[in-house]
Amino acid sequence: MFSKDELLKSSSYVDGVWLQGEKKFAVDNPSSGETIIEVAEIEAEQVLGAIGAAEKALESWTARTAKDRAEILMRWYELIVEHADILAEILTLEQGKPVSEAKGEILYGASFIQWFAEEGKRAYGDIIPSPVEGARIFVRKEPVGVCAFITPWNFPSAMIARKLGAALAAGCTAVCKPAALTPLSALALMVLAEEAGVPKGVINMVVGTHSKEIGQAFTESEIVKKISFTGSTAVGKALYAQSASTVKKISLELGGNAPFIVFDDADIEAAVEGAIACKFRNAGQTCVCANRIYVQDAIYDSFAEKLAYKVEQMSVADGLKEGTDIGPLINEGGLKKVQVHIQDALDHGASIMCGGSAHALGGLFFEPTVLKNVSPDAKVAREETFGPVAPLFKFKDEDDVIAQANDTEFGLASYFYAKDMSRIWKVAERLQYGMVGVNTPIISNEVAPFGGVKESGIGREGSKYGLEEFMELKYILMQG
Ligand code: NAP
Repeated sequence: MFSKDELLKSSSYVDGVWLQGEKKFAVDNPSSGETIIEVAEIEAEQVLGAIGAAEKALESWTARTAKDRAEILMRWYELIVEHADILAEILTLEQGKPVSEAKGEILYGASFIQWFAEEGKRAYGDIIPSPVEGARIFVRKEPVGVCAFITPWNFPSAMIARKLGAALAAGCTAVCKPAALTPLSALALMVLAEEAGVPKGVINMVVGTHSKEIGQAFTESEIVKKISFTGSTAVGKALYAQSASTVKKISLELGGNAPFIVFDDADIEAAVEGAIACKFRNAGQTCVCANRIYVQDAIYDSFAEKLAYKVEQMSVADGLKEGTDIGPLINEGGLKKVQVHIQDALDHGASIMCGGSAHALGGLFFEPTVLKNVSPDAKVAREETFGPVAPLFKFKDEDDVIAQANDTEFGLASYFYAKDMSRIWKVAERLQYGMVGVNTPIISNEVAPFGGVKESGIGREGSKYGLEEFMELKYILMQG
């Protein structure tokens, strides 16, 4: 068993070595503002070295049997579960979310490593009847090769685990860059990967603040065959464009603007609970958070009152304190965006039912907020707020709410509460989103394909489809 001090690393991990470096950057606790640890900044040469290490490790990792790879991944999974409490504490320290949520994230991330360890053994090919006499057509799946991953601060452990589980099971090697705000969770996973027997060079974790240059090194490299990115749509578009020159395979998990719809036949109590779980998890800083809550006119007032009553009772505090529902926002920029969105909604005629201001704790804490009578022209309707703000919109009927819900360039997650079965099927099919939660606020797990349409992304993570993102088809025609 590793201690917290042993899991708290302060430099990049490349080719099985913890690199040293003169230049450092601070990783701060968003709850207290205090520095947790100083981390060595990776240098440009070392990023290229990390890509080279992944290339060097590729042949032997690919050559192993899927069963052999699965055994190592299973050991890694077990070590993560064993250390879940310490990993959760590290996650909360650097990211701020309540420690119970952090532990949920650790176990959620681990579940992808376990799932793909099993699924890697089932990367079946095909035998296709040939149209030509004497010929045989085989299709086999082969690993894409060296992959490069870039991940965000809001799920600093799970976004790394979700990508690495699939990539390693498929026989790929990787170089990863976590967000500079939250590199510690990703580095802690490397201690456990090494202990599990992941060979040196198979995973390389580079940490640094010059993300643009690191991204460029990844996208310009002829060694890197695939980019998998989770983060904002703006950065995703830039990486997509940059990857064109070497025609890389690409997966993008980008921003969302999730509608959460409550029809008048819904179980209102369940919808209120669902809205809270969907909106306020991680202080509203998730890509699948309800961003717009649409409530049918007949139940609008009673839903709003019930929601505001419950939201007012949520506890805002340091994530390590027992019973905390909402921790701090990640940084000043995040706090400012929430304030701008609330003021803009008020300027467009909304009213505050609860919250609306910086929390008495100060720093990056903000009151959970419910806004009523929000205009579709307000910023909260068009952009991800990424904070603890629940804006309530009113709708008339099914056509009206489908038109409003689909009126966005995003298409990641959507949710609705209803009971009428014919309505449920119609609405689920008409929502232009990669994922639809019906009568449930939490939709992601390792066996399902997570991902978006429109400007929310390309590709899927989790499920059998997630493995395919890391494999190429090779067709072999045998004759003679
Ligand atoms: P971000 O600014 O796009 O950052 C994401 C990652 O990209 C970080 O590691 C960041 O590094 C790096 N980065 C920033 N600029 C870059 C550049 N020019 N070239 C290469 N890398 C660059 O997003 P964020 O604010 O951290 O995360 C929030 C966003 O992620 C939201 O939009 C959210 O919806 C989205 N998200 C999507 C999913 C999904 O599965 N669809 C899941 C979680 C989050 P530094 O931070 O070190 O600069």
